[in-house]
Amino acid sequence: MKLRREFRNFKIFAFDGDGVLWRGRTPIPSAIKVLNKLLSMGKTVVLVTNNSTKSRIMYQETLRKMGINLPLTNIYCSSYGAAVYLSEHGYRSAYVVGEDGLKEELMKAGIKVKRKAEAVVVGMDRKISYSKIATASRLVRDQGAFFLATNRDATFPTEKGEYPGAGSIVAAIEVAAKKPVDVDIGKPQPYMFQLIMKDHAAEPSEIVVIGDRLETDIAAAKRISAKSILVLTGVAKKADVEKSREKPDYVLKDLSELLE
Ligand SMILES: [Mg+2]
Repeated sequence: MKLRREFRNFKIFAFDGDGVLWRGRTPIPSAIKVLNKLLSMGKTVVLVTNNSTKSRIMYQETLRKMGINLPLTNIYCSSYGAAVYLSEHGYRSAYVVGEDGLKEELMKAGIKVKRKAEAVVVGMDRKISYSKIATASRLVRDQGAFFLATNRDATFPTEKGEYPGAGSIVAAIEVAAKKPVDVDIGKPQPYMFQLIMKDHAAEPSEIVVIGDRLETDIAAAKRISAKSILVLTGVAKKADVEKSREKPDYVLKDLSELLE
């Protein structure tokens, strides 16, 4: 099995996680085979996910258990993206509405996680409460804190159907703060891909973005003028492609179709 001709010239293969490499907690078998094939060819494989609940180290461990070894420098979760963005812009403290992975990345970047903070960082938080929304929105509205969203995904898919995503929490805080976010670093915004291009010294033409959602993965590829592949192992179905304004360059039934 070799890589199909049309994909051979890409240097960086940027994979989304959920719906592409795994579904819920279950790895997609063809994905493991294809990723290891790409790695054996010397291609750069990166994970790019809007999920902010895990840190890079947590994702490295998840991938390792699946049989994929990626260096930390190839893992771009929105928790890490948020930490890089804040430190690049000189913020030294953040109030976090989010989970342990997000806090871990911020602290690793030297950002103090506390209530009286210069920035408010909002991600997925399965222990969201009225008091957290109140603290975050008051910091933004009354103290002028910088307001960062890890992503605006309205929902995420689970075995039981769609559940509220980070975007629903961001929206609640925006309404209470009477102010939209200052920045959203998640897909379809280009920030994490800009980091990848900088860290791995790559041009948009050298990257192919692989995802299962038209409105995030494929739209993000368009924004950075990179080629994109939609895989039908997750959220989007073939009929969705025809209805959508975001057209992928390639549509694959599953990742094994990257090979021939
Ligand atoms: Mg996905």
